[in-house]
Amino acid sequence: MTALADLAPAELAGRYAEAHNAYAAFRARGLRLDMTRGKPAPEQLDLAAGMLALPGNGDHTTASGEDARNYGGLQGLPEIRALFGRPLLGAPPEQVVVAENSSLAVMHDCLVWAMLKGVPGSDVPWSRTAAPAFLCPVPGYDRHFALCEEFGIRMLPVPMTPDGPDMEVVEALSLDPSVKGLWCVPKYSNPSGEVYSGATVRRLAAMRTGAADFRLFWDNAYAVHHLTQTHHAVPDILAACADAGHPDRAFVFASTSKITLAGAGLAFFAGSPGNVAWYLARAGKRTIGPDKLNQLRHLRFLRDAAGLTAHMARQRDLLAPKFSAVTAALDRHLSGTAVSWSRPEGGYFVSVDAGVGTAERIVGLASDAGIGLTPAGATFPYGRDPRDATLRLAPSYPSLPDVREAAEGIALCILLAAIESERAAREAARA
Ligand code: PMP
Repeated sequence: MTALADLAPAELAGRYAEAHNAYAAFRARGLRLDMTRGKPAPEQLDLAAGMLALPGNGDHTTASGEDARNYGGLQGLPEIRALFGRPLLGAPPEQVVVAENSSLAVMHDCLVWAMLKGVPGSDVPWSRTAAPAFLCPVPGYDRHFALCEEFGIRMLPVPMTPDGPDMEVVEALSLDPSVKGLWCVPKYSNPSGEVYSGATVRRLAAMRTGAADFRLFWDNAYAVHHLTQTHHAVPDILAACADAGHPDRAFVFASTSKITLAGAGLAFFAGSPGNVAWYLARAGKRTIGPDKLNQLRHLRFLRDAAGLTAHMARQRDLLAPKFSAVTAALDRHLSGTAVSWSRPEGGYFVSVDAGVGTAERIVGLASDAGIGLTPAGATFPYGRDPRDATLRLAPSYPSLPDVREAAEGIALCILLAAIESERAAREAARA
């Protein structure tokens, strides 16, 4: 198909009329579809239905003979740390802590404790450093950015590349002593799906930092969340940091929110022995112990590494067709435009670069047509996308037929906005 920029004026006018009519017809159907957030669909949660009856009446004794109903066990059951430590965190069981149900809450706590008390290697708490800052690969996860905003941590955007954050920029900015950390989603990054390369991991582990207490906030939310048969691997960050002589550099986070139950999973922290001792010292003031029955429930249900892999294959079978439906609709309507989109091999999102100055318009068009999209700008610090170009599509929650409908509608909105933008550019050039 001829690129929009190469169309003769009459052809462009024709394409506009066509796109406008297709959009109007879609809108007239009065659909209500939600593609805003990466929530598991009910059938994904149903995969873990068997868990609700576990560990079962009378089954409350752990491998070491502890009573899982009682207080205690701050670090979490060793058998759960062994089950999830390697695949989710790349850590041995002794370097893993099992928390409650949300890794975001664990990240929140780490940030608050760092601000109030400092981390191993801090001279003073982060809040007493002048204008502490975090590096934020963009587009990125809006809730990471919301945490920084909440606690007055400055955010410095770093462009993403197919191999992870642009390391030239990261290495230059990290020399500033007020830069305390970097948000990372190393595998199937939210929202654009990148997998960090081995070289990126090694550079992050080895780079010089101005702050002695700099931390990688390594959010491995999608460690085993593959959408294809290719199970991408990222080198273990804790080992890379230890090898590079910076053993305390990484805080690693993960959860089973998108493995078992989003609201009733298990969250994890992993780090060097020093970081784990630091975490436990703080956590021990906050709680007398986590919910070990939920830990037993997960153990009884998934059993072992093979059980985890089999469960994630069932998740993939439900999710992959929804992602294919999205990319198929984009392929069908948008080839020949300058719009580009990710083809993620894991994770929960498709990211679209719809062209400068179009994202807000597209979200508005979609909303008028009954499709809820993540607000434009959400994947950037302070909600501001300087190019107003990025859209995050979250196809997990709606049913497959609804995803097909929504993807069709979204593609029509993007196409209409792209043609409007081309017309406006020609208009401006003539003026
Ligand atoms: N990190 C990332 C990158 C995510 O995409 C999400 C969920 N959308 C979370 C963390 C939230 O994890 P949890 O449910 O463990 O709080």
